[in-house]
Amino acid sequence: MYKSKSNFGRNTRPSRPFNAHRSSRPSGGRRSGPQKQYIHPSKFVSVATPREEIQYTAQHQFADFDVHPLIKKNLSVKGYVTPSPIQDQSIPLGLAGKDIIGIANTGTGKTAAFAIPVLNKLMSDKVSKVLIIAPTRELAEQIEDEMRSIAKGSGLTGTLLIGGSSMQRQLRELKHMPRVIVGTPGRIKDHLMQGTLKLDQVNNLVLDEVDRMLDMGFMPDMQFILERMATERQSFFFSATFDAKVRDIITKFSNDPVTVSVKTGDTSENVHQNIVEYNGKEDKMTKLHEALLHENANKVIVFEDTKHQVEKLGKELVERGFKAESIHGGKSQSQRTRALRAFKENKINILVATDVAARGIDVPNITSVINFSTPQTYDDYTHRIGRAGRAGRVGHALTFIEKY
Ligand code: AMP
Repeated sequence: MYKSKSNFGRNTRPSRPFNAHRSSRPSGGRRSGPQKQYIHPSKFVSVATPREEIQYTAQHQFADFDVHPLIKKNLSVKGYVTPSPIQDQSIPLGLAGKDIIGIANTGTGKTAAFAIPVLNKLMSDKVSKVLIIAPTRELAEQIEDEMRSIAKGSGLTGTLLIGGSSMQRQLRELKHMPRVIVGTPGRIKDHLMQGTLKLDQVNNLVLDEVDRMLDMGFMPDMQFILERMATERQSFFFSATFDAKVRDIITKFSNDPVTVSVKTGDTSENVHQNIVEYNGKEDKMTKLHEALLHENANKVIVFEDTKHQVEKLGKELVERGFKAESIHGGKSQSQRTRALRAFKENKINILVATDVAARGIDVPNITSVINFSTPQTYDDYTHRIGRAGRAGRVGHALTFIEKY
């Protein structure tokens, strides 16, 4: 366990909401912002054409890497024996001190791909520190959990700087000069502005889901943060896509990076896609009820537009006897964490969510995605439904369209 006065090694998190401080950016719903892109309903219909997964042969085993024995022991306790492709390719480069651009989705093992070289460096070099930035609170928590388990027993200290969670705890932890700082852009920037966080000695950087951070409008915050870091540093960038905007920011903040890509194409190819036509509100609800009773709907994410709609729909489904929960930006962090855990552990099988709240969450075995409201863009659509077609399995996606 990370030793700490700063709670990094604790298994539980503060369980009450803390509303005294608001993050500068809402993390659920899209009340304002651009109009929805028109997407022809035919684009929501497709028969899955699952591809044979090409078997990857790892070049290493975790036991082969030149890392601290404690890391090897912790990985073995976690049951990690063979590195995933992104880990197999990134870890040796990361250990050699290279800047890395990893093109990979959530679920590929990208967290350990950066966590192992970074933690190894922090264990051998007592002045090294790392800043890890993720677009959502959920992803930041997941990263912190993974880091904590890989560094267990090392004595490293850390802090999680996310909105909707105790500012007091964060301030207390920051006083102890944590060496692992994980957070979301809004809260990290708040601390920098208040002078409660200094980054000029932080010589390792991880930006996770760079494309999502840009989509969510975090570019100015990221610039603000990165400009305050040590200039001599090692950086890791992860992104599911690599367009011009992503490339620009990475080029600006990296030093001769090596690119590792493990993207295996569009996972929506593994998803049966269809539309559900409805006539008015009541019919829409009846059709959702039927869809949720379908044999394919074992583990379902239902997408709605705003936090208000998500909350209302979640309650309605519970009243109808479904095992459902909702996550959106209007809920406290502990409520969101609890809902997500219940979904992961199959205590509930339906999660109603906004796009933003659902981003980056790592839940395996999702069978179906239901777009109760149409997505903002086609890109959002692919992102939503890709969650149901993971690891070569065939998933199902239904998009609700109003009949005129
Ligand atoms: P990530 O993409 O980092 O969110 O990881 C996805 C899931 O895979 C997490 O639940 C990890 O605990 C798990 N995982 C990552 N790497 C390995 C590995 N080499 N062996 C087994 N499980 C892994």
